[in-house]
Amino acid sequence: MVNLIIFGAPGSGKGTYASRLKERLNVEVIATGDLFREMIKLDTPLGRKVKEYVEKGLLVPDDITLEVLKENLAKIPKGKGFILDGYPRTIWQAQSLEEIAKIDAVIHLVVPDWIIIKRLSSRRICQNCGAIYNLIFLKPKRDMICDKCGGPLYQRSDDTAEVIKKRIEVYEKQTQPLLNYYRGKGVPFVEAKCEKLETPPEVVVEEILKGLKKLNIA
Ligand code: AMP
Repeated sequence: MVNLIIFGAPGSGKGTYASRLKERLNVEVIATGDLFREMIKLDTPLGRKVKEYVEKGLLVPDDITLEVLKENLAKIPKGKGFILDGYPRTIWQAQSLEEIAKIDAVIHLVVPDWIIIKRLSSRRICQNCGAIYNLIFLKPKRDMICDKCGGPLYQRSDDTAEVIKKRIEVYEKQTQPLLNYYRGKGVPFVEAKCEKLETPPEVVVEEILKGLKKLNIA
């Protein structure tokens, strides 16, 4: 059983790699951003509150985020590990996580800014199964149709130039300091670099798996 956090700027590929690592490591993926988008879609009272933050590229308040995380951690079958994608994003969230789970390693995605901007503006997602595509380098076979389930693809409402800028700013200010926090705690790191737009996800996933093996984690 292995518990991991996948870290990286918005658009660094966390969701893409986590969904592939899920199969290889037999873990669950908890992506707080996906959970929030689902709440917004269902238009619950809490979903409406969450929407105000997400659509501006701001962080949802820590107490709401922690509750959503806890609820979903509780659903993981006993003995199965997890990858957290998008949590923690603040020191407070990291400290709260420490009280509920042990983290075996941090996967840190290192991606240059120009790739991030290009990726985010051309990202498309399946409305049905959540599979992630990119109109430049990870195109669906049929225009705007999911290869996996045939569902329609859409663009996230926070993948617009203005909100992307805010999200990157928030990442640098509130989330990047967490890397030093985990380094200070002695949590092992696996760094995965992606320096080309066309690097297939599988290549990065193999690099991550190799790094985890070196640490005797996978
Ligand atoms: P993501 O899909 O990870 O890019 O997240 C999309 C949006 O959901 C973020 O821009 C935040 O508004 C919100 N969000 C996701 N995870 C968190 C978190 N751990 N704390 C606060 N807000 C979050």
